[in-house]
Amino acid sequence: MAMLRFAPSPTGALHLGGLRMALYNHLYAKKLGGKWILRIEDTDATRFVPGAVDGIRHALEWAGLDYDYGPGKGGPHAPYFQSERLDLYRSYTTKLLSSGHAYRCFCSMDRLTELRERYARTGSSQSYDKRCLYLTEEEVARRVRAGEVHIVRLNNDAGQPRRSMRDLVFGHLRDAHGSLATDPILLKSDGYPTYHLANVVDDHTMGITHVLRGEEWLTSVPLHLDIYAALGLEPPEFAHIPILLNPDGSKMSKRNGDVKVEEYIRRGWERDAVLNWLALAGWGTQHEEIESAPGVETTPTPSAEHKPRKIKEAPGPTQVMSIDELISEFDVASITHRSTGLDPGKLAFLNRQHLLRAAATHAGLADLAARIRLWMDENTPLGEIKDEYTTPEYIESVIRVLDQRLINIHDIVSLAPYLFIEPKYTSKEAEHMIRRVTAEQRTQTLSGVYSILESVGPRVWFDAPALLDVMNKERERREIPTNMFLILRHALTAMKDGPPMAELMQVLGKDRTLARIKSAMS
Ligand code: GLU
Repeated sequence: MAMLRFAPSPTGALHLGGLRMALYNHLYAKKLGGKWILRIEDTDATRFVPGAVDGIRHALEWAGLDYDYGPGKGGPHAPYFQSERLDLYRSYTTKLLSSGHAYRCFCSMDRLTELRERYARTGSSQSYDKRCLYLTEEEVARRVRAGEVHIVRLNNDAGQPRRSMRDLVFGHLRDAHGSLATDPILLKSDGYPTYHLANVVDDHTMGITHVLRGEEWLTSVPLHLDIYAALGLEPPEFAHIPILLNPDGSKMSKRNGDVKVEEYIRRGWERDAVLNWLALAGWGTQHEEIESAPGVETTPTPSAEHKPRKIKEAPGPTQVMSIDELISEFDVASITHRSTGLDPGKLAFLNRQHLLRAAATHAGLADLAARIRLWMDENTPLGEIKDEYTTPEYIESVIRVLDQRLINIHDIVSLAPYLFIEPKYTSKEAEHMIRRVTAEQRTQTLSGVYSILESVGPRVWFDAPALLDVMNKERERREIPTNMFLILRHALTAMKDGPPMAELMQVLGKDRTLARIKSAMS
């Protein structure tokens, strides 16, 4: 069975790039009928941020990305915190030491720094001179017994053949070993593994079949392949995912608050829209554009060979898709080779579309209304809002009438304040709206409209075309001026734009409509 993993380091809040990685793992695991693990890679104590794991779990929970095994859930390969698996890494290190694929290095920090500087000056890619590889067994044993501080290095010359590999996104990678440091460290002097050792040991022991992770790890693949080979293990499949960029092409930074998932939750974006947006950033038809433009592909390091691939019909960058649709369409081979800019305009578009989709079902509409109510309780955007404007039924009718206009649920009150509080006739916009209408004309029009509406029964009131028809006919018969609708909109909303008149009156209801006309006349 396919087994995938999302393996964040708890170095801060989950950002959009991390959420997209978790999402791709989720989509691919489900697509393959497999499972995925949340693994916390916390072996670098200096970068650990308290609370980060809770933040990551909260963001995944909000996103509905429900891992099968991991913190809080357990699973067959628990524990899922690397800091709790140190014995495992030590036992794998012992295996490598006994087979001669690794050796202990006692060189001091000063010596290593001096070596590195010397190599750098001569332009050599070497980083260590392998001195400790040649220590006798007796000497190593003596120094270990004496408690001398040391690290464990992989012996890169232990005879593994140089390998090429196929990445599911980048294709065939040749000549991948050029960038390898000499005898990389596996175990640090504090007994903690390096990322590389822990990553390989965990991916193996957890039965990971596919590694989907950020492109920044592509250069580590040769080393990982060497560790797999040294241990006599089969590596999993790899898919390296190009990073996300800001719309201007600059690199997204974790330090930039704008990229934190919690910020998007706080700002009221729909979960499905955010997932849709992130999924399509770098996957979909944009890929075809890149494929069809020869010479624009970026060559990753180490060098990659791109085979033109026939892409199956992939979704466009703003195609509205639910998580289930994403799962059924997802194809790792259609992920672009290039970093992708995240366009906030696309999120706004997708959010509106997902709101419309949700509002089209009873359960979806009720859920939106409940979330809006909760937000209004916590935010009191216009000061006190009367209870009559906060019932679930009323909020549902507001969502329906705002329809396409609503981009984000948090905009609902600022978009149509008159649906929650009484209109403000003294505002600049309100005064400007009726600047060409005399006081007399207004009173005359409003009293005419009042008497038309007063006599309208519920059957017509809730039939928008019939209501408009009655109003138009009566306006002509009673010779009410043609700007009746402008004057009426002013009375009901004090704003120049808004939903169609009859629908607006239906949401307000007959009593409120008549009361507002009256107060506009006084
Ligand atoms: N812990 C790494 C990170 O946070 C992930 C590496 C991997 O997925 O292999 O970037």
